[in-house]
Amino acid sequence: MIPAHSSLAYLNIEIFPRSLVEKDGEEYALAKTSAGTRLVALVKPATLTGFEGETSEQGGNILLIGPCDSKNAAALRTQLGWLNPGLLNLRTSTGMGDRIGLATPGHVRAIRAVGGKIAPIFAQQSIREMTRTGRTPQTVMDDATWGVFQEGWREGFGADADHLKTPGDIDSCLEAGYTFFTIDPGAHVDVRAETASLDTLRELVGSLPVEMQPRATGLLGRDFDIEGLRVSFNEAVLLKAAIKYGIALVHVASMYQHLVKAAAGRSFEMEVSVDETDQPTTHAEHLYIACELKRLGVRWISLAPRYVGRFEKGVDYIGDIATFESDLAGHAAIARQLGPYKLSLHSGSDKFSIYPAAMRQTNGLVHLKTAGTSYLEALRTIAALDAGLFSEIYSFACQNYTADKASYHVSARLDRAPRPGAVTDWPALLDQFDARQILHVTFGSVLTCKTASGRKRFAGRFMAALTTNTEAYALNLEKHFGRHLKPFSSLE
Ligand SMILES: [Zn+2]
Repeated sequence: MIPAHSSLAYLNIEIFPRSLVEKDGEEYALAKTSAGTRLVALVKPATLTGFEGETSEQGGNILLIGPCDSKNAAALRTQLGWLNPGLLNLRTSTGMGDRIGLATPGHVRAIRAVGGKIAPIFAQQSIREMTRTGRTPQTVMDDATWGVFQEGWREGFGADADHLKTPGDIDSCLEAGYTFFTIDPGAHVDVRAETASLDTLRELVGSLPVEMQPRATGLLGRDFDIEGLRVSFNEAVLLKAAIKYGIALVHVASMYQHLVKAAAGRSFEMEVSVDETDQPTTHAEHLYIACELKRLGVRWISLAPRYVGRFEKGVDYIGDIATFESDLAGHAAIARQLGPYKLSLHSGSDKFSIYPAAMRQTNGLVHLKTAGTSYLEALRTIAALDAGLFSEIYSFACQNYTADKASYHVSARLDRAPRPGAVTDWPALLDQFDARQILHVTFGSVLTCKTASGRKRFAGRFMAALTTNTEAYALNLEKHFGRHLKPFSSLE
């Protein structure tokens, strides 16, 4: 036991109250100091190994005050096991991507508010988004570590290496400790299958490798009845599925084998995502994917088909909700019978109108993936605190929208968005459809843009506004995610 007079609580340090950990006579906490947020620890000399910072003797123990950097995050994960990501299994879950690295405290609070009924992923970013924001798998992981530590969350969380496309992506994310790997074979999906005639399909099938030839699948002529969903693999149906997804599945299988080998016994979960295609994944195609992945020896915890309707960034579902629900019902039945595995809803942020249907049809066997919406809540926070900075960002976003929207599903139009000079209520701009998408897809440009002198134009002020107003940002996130999580937190 540490004598009371040498406890962190008795030192003149302001700590984040939920961060305080007492373990084996040692203490750790996150402190607010004049120099910014710092790790403070009161530990035995032997524990200091791995940490860095200023040290002083304090009642027989060592007081460490150190930076919230990667080295200290790693040392903290070694000392406090719950700061390491783990597996979510088949629990109803949500991925809470954080493009700026300051959102985890708000995410933790939102998860806490639904009584831990949803398993969270706090570290999640695609390689594409990391590139756009100048982050790495390790910085994303470390930022989540600090957020989990600050809020004292000990109930477990996952870490999603999202939309991985190459074995190299897998390696860098394994190295950083990720536990959930989303494999995206989208580049290998052959969209010619969508419009090809049966004759063309017969020609195209010749280019598939032997192991993916229709006769190898064992599916030709088979009829499935899955909870009343009937799928018949006649030649046309099977060939279309095989050409559209066959090579993509070979890619998934080789990524999976690489992952198994590179993980060297470490446990992990894998998601397969084919959500980023123009045409929906039909039930027959989903069934083909699941049957073939099984035949290829792949194991997965969740799958993201491309559903009907439009899943645009930052806004509600666009399409007929009843049609979505009946489409989803078929996908959910397949996922139950062929797995069970979870259905994953990508670009899931702000799709409030379909959440009840998603929960109803999957019975909780569902993963909701969000990312950009936390960035928009950061902007909402800034809009209320510093309208000048926010208006500059909005003008810049409007200028960059046309170039930045290229790789995203959005339909916002500049001519429908409020003109920067005409806005009077800045926080309310975050609720306007076009402005919301314009702000959503320009995050990378906003965060990395430099002035003529080489300094970052917005990033410094952007981050400072949030780090000096952590409560405001956390409150906005908790409120916004409350709307996302409530429909998934109870089975009616
Ligand atoms: Zn996705």
